[in-house]
Order: sequence, then structure tokens, then C-alpha cells
Amino acid sequence: MSEAAVGQRDRRGYWKPAELLEPPPVYAWPPKPVGVAKWLFGFPGFLWPWNTLYAAIATLTWLFATPDMATMQTLAPGWIGFVLARNLVLMLAVFGAFHLYLHVGRRQGTDYKFTDRWQATNNPTFLFGRQVWDNMVWTIASGLPIWTAWEVVTLWLQANHRLPTASWADHPIWCALLMLFIPVWREAHFYAVHRLIHWPPLYRAVHSLHHKNVDPGPWSGLAMHPVEHLLYFSGVLLHWIVPSNGLHVIFHMQHLAFAPANGHSGFGRLKLGEAEFDSGAYWHYLHHRYFEVNYGSDLVPIDKWVGTFHDGSEAAGEQMNARLKIRSERAKAARKRA
Ligand SMILES: [Zn+2]
Ligand SMILES: [Zn+2]
Repeated sequence: MSEAAVGQRDRRGYWKPAELLEPPPVYAWPPKPVGVAKWLFGFPGFLWPWNTLYAAIATLTWLFATPDMATMQTLAPGWIGFVLARNLVLMLAVFGAFHLYLHVGRRQGTDYKFTDRWQATNNPTFLFGRQVWDNMVWTIASGLPIWTAWEVVTLWLQANHRLPTASWADHPIWCALLMLFIPVWREAHFYAVHRLIHWPPLYRAVHSLHHKNVDPGPWSGLAMHPVEHLLYFSGVLLHWIVPSNGLHVIFHMQHLAFAPANGHSGFGRLKLGEAEFDSGAYWHYLHHRYFEVNYGSDLVPIDKWVGTFHDGSEAAGEQMNARLKIRSERAKAARKRA
């Protein structure tokens, strides 16, 4: 398929999909059962590929690369170091795969790339002047230990029966439903945290670091200030309240850790050999380009419900500008009064 068949590139080099963004058909009224089934089981859909892949990686991690519960009853450097090293290997594998495939090997060139430029290699806003090095430092030096800390503490509390638990053997339906609910919860939690750190004082001190990536690449996904990492991974507190088990915790943490690689890939569609499919990255890309739209994503489209949605159309751009104008006039008036 050509770029132009499924989207268009404007004169300034920005590519956008022809189809406007819209939330999945589960929110449609009147209900669209066929659309919902397609969205659930289609490709790409809710289950396949991403959530199934993340669940498979989590299951393998839980079965073969997680210390047993008896070991995790006591906080000790040996097993904590193991979890940290295992998470580092997974992080390098997932983020590295997206980055090497798309941005180093450039396996699909700039086809479906949101901009026709490549990542900055000489820009003083980034550490060492290089976007990818800057992004990797924040991801590995801050994201990795904070991810691991939330995971270790939650598993340690579970191992000591200090959290409500539910085993697959005794509560298979509950456990399966919770696996499906985790991506939904994750997005609602992300929206809340993300809106909070767009509050100007927190934005300046914390979240502006992530937004240096106006043109993101996979490693930009977790390039965050440590305070943002702390809040972002705190979604795992769900398991401090709701009965679950170690597999849920690992799936949830890996979902938080891995999904940003694809979400920030910088490409609207991914090509794999002859196959190609929608990456789902456009929603969040528009947040990086325009800042004050699309704080969440499509699965829990709070943006649509509260008026911060940008679907990629010119009309949505005009609405955004009108909203920002009102906001800046209000701020000006408030400054005058003060
Ligand atoms: Zn982002
Ligand atoms: Zn933001």
C-alpha cells in the first residue's frame, strides 16, 4: 500500500492518516455488536497483537524469570538484583527492537512516519545533544529502577499475604477478567496522572522533560522525570486493593513499561514484510505535537468526554486553538486582577 492510499503528507512534511481518530465501537450508541467483535478480535484490535503479546511475555516472565514467593518474602539484594537485571534485558529487547527496526535500520524509510525528519543528533535541549541518548538515559537510569521498585514492593507484599490475592486455580474467571481490565485501568490512571502533571508548576518542574520530544521515537516513551515515573508506575496500586496475583502484577508493570515504545514509535503504520497495520500511535503523537490535546488514549477516551480530543482534522485544530485562546485570555485577566 502506498502512503497516499491511507493518508497524506502535507507540504511541511507531516504525514497523517486519512481516517480520523475515533474511540473504539464499544462506546458507540446505538450499539454496534459487529464493530465491537471486529475491534475485540480483529487485527490490530484490543486483543491482538499488543495485549496478547504483552500477556505472553508476562506469563513467560512469571513462570520462568520470577523468584518464588518464599524467596520474595524477605527483601534481599540477590532476588531484587535479579528482577532489576531481568527488567533491563526486557527493556533493551523491546525498546531496542522498535528503535533498531524503525530508526536505525530504517526498514520502512519514512513511510507513514509522522514527520519526514529523523531524531535530533545535534540539539542542546537533549543530554549530549542527542535525542536517543537523552531518552535512553532517563529510561534506564530512572524508569528501570522505579518500575522495578514498584514491582518488587508489590510482589513482596503479596508474598507476605499483606495484599488481597486471588489465584488462577480458585478464581479463574475473576483472574481472566482482571487481565482484560488492566489495560483499561491503566489508561484511566494514565489520563489522571497525565492531566495532573500538565498543571503548570508540575509541567515546568517534571513533565516538560518528556515533552522535549516534540517528534518522539520509541525511546522517548519512558523518557520521563523520576517524579513522573513514580506517578506513572503507581497504577500498580490497583493490586493493593483488588484481589490479584503475581502474574497480574507483572503483566500490569510490563504493560506500563513496554506500551510506550510502540506508542511513541513515530510511525502511523508499521510494515512487517508484506504486511502492514495501524500502529495506534497517532493519538498520542498529536499530544506531543500540540501538547494540550489527547492526554489519554482511545481505550478510555476521556479526552472525547471532556473536550480535549483531537481527531487529526482541521476542525479539531480550530477547536483546540479557540480553547487555548480562551484559556490564555482568562490567565491574562487573572494576572491583571492580581
Ligand atoms: Zn508521550
Ligand atoms: Zn503531556
